[in-house]
Amino acid sequence: MSAEYGLLINGKLVKGAATLDVINPATEEVLVAAPRADEAQLNEAVKAAKAAFPSWSATPIVERAACVNALADALSEQQPDFARLLTQEQGKPLPDAMGELFGAIAMLRYYATLDLPLKVLKEDDTQKIVQQHSPLGVVAAITPWNFPMILLMLKVAPALMAGCTVVAKPAPTTPLTTLKFGEICARVLPPGVVNVIVDQNDLGGALTGHPDVAKVAFTGSTATGKKVMASVASTLKRLTLELGGNDAAIVLDDVDPKEVAPKLFAGATMNSGQVCLAIKRLYVHESQYDAICDELGKLAREAIVDDGLKQGTQMGPIQNKAQFEKVKGFIEDAKAHGKIVAGGEIADRKGYFIPPTIVRDIPDDARLVREEQFGPVLPVLRYSNVDDAIARANDTDYGLGGTVWATDLDRAFEVAKRIESGTVWINKHLDLPPDIPFTGSKQSGMGAEMGEEGLLEFTQAKVINMAKAPIAA
Ligand code: NAD
Repeated sequence: MSAEYGLLINGKLVKGAATLDVINPATEEVLVAAPRADEAQLNEAVKAAKAAFPSWSATPIVERAACVNALADALSEQQPDFARLLTQEQGKPLPDAMGELFGAIAMLRYYATLDLPLKVLKEDDTQKIVQQHSPLGVVAAITPWNFPMILLMLKVAPALMAGCTVVAKPAPTTPLTTLKFGEICARVLPPGVVNVIVDQNDLGGALTGHPDVAKVAFTGSTATGKKVMASVASTLKRLTLELGGNDAAIVLDDVDPKEVAPKLFAGATMNSGQVCLAIKRLYVHESQYDAICDELGKLAREAIVDDGLKQGTQMGPIQNKAQFEKVKGFIEDAKAHGKIVAGGEIADRKGYFIPPTIVRDIPDDARLVREEQFGPVLPVLRYSNVDDAIARANDTDYGLGGTVWATDLDRAFEVAKRIESGTVWINKHLDLPPDIPFTGSKQSGMGAEMGEEGLLEFTQAKVINMAKAPIAA
């Protein structure tokens, strides 16, 4: 690949102070030497965002919406190019990359329809009390490597609509689609409104701790989220954290194993399991346990794991070497403590490929059950009583999502009510409409993305309380 990428600082695409090799995880070859910023360039980006803020925040919201729609138009025009690049840097199959781009465009278009009207809270003959939502200022938008495009738009779209300006920082292993989006921003937006810098996991602290950053919108691991929270404490910046998960799926005893198994399998292995909301622990009633393990094993053996650019690929590689090694560690641990139904053997080939791996008869205290595997390795756990299944599902510091699978919807609803998480799906998974808020509970995060709540996160709610009578002379 010969494309040249630039950091976006104050409307200009510029060379980095250094470069960073971006690896294609399907081939382990260097795709591109991407520009990498130093702290001086980070400071320039924040300065540009700060300078752009007064005029961008004063721009009428309909004009800001037109700009956000123009970003969506440009992304649509180049969707196949973006999708190909996304597959090359991230690893996911090309149709899934196209799907991620559809989601990213939908997010921009949805936010472009929203407004932030003044709200009259109370009015009578003597007074009028109004609430105004003012933009916070410069936003640091920090994203991980599993969904670089959609997670970026969850932040950029509402930030721009609120009137904020942005410094975006992608993960070092997947910076290219964000840099390419920066090229669109350079054409569509006034200078400084969106800036893009790339680091090698070394500038996050300087960005989140920067005194001129008013808000941090962060998606990533719980461990890094805690560092971000500590770094914003001294200035009490506003903060949204979308962090890790260890989502449980509870399968009730009235399902048809053949019907439910493909859905469970997809929920655990989509994006090679590198989904914050993936099914990471599966609790199955003892009456269905063997049948569901067998069905999942069959699906795992049939799955096509290959380069995401090849037609027919169902699962691409793990995104980066560090995560690949981590997932291999989970498999070794599962072999020691559980029984492998399918998968578990890593082929001797180039690329960070892990076959879908189904593990049964594994204890609740195994690493694969306690920790977030973030890979296509699924522990299947047996239960005999649904109260016990719910208690075990909730016995975690995480609380992102969860699913319940059942024929009796009323029973499923009662179970869903008792799961401690920000989202629970019943008989479906990963349905995330842009207008529905998404939040994490416990150590899976705080604050909301998506929906109107996701827009309000970039604003300060201010009350203007006015006496109707003029001041007496
Ligand atoms: P990570 O926490 O390692 O990195 C995320 C981002 O933070 C990257 O851009 C990284 O460069 C940056 N970063 C690193 N150190 C930083 C610091 N000290 N201060 C500020 N930023 C810093 O996460 P990852 O490994 O890239 O992503 C995987 C994790 O993300 C998983 O735990 C997954 O569950 C989670 N995730 C959560 C959601 C959600 O919406 N809840 C969505 C996707 C992924």
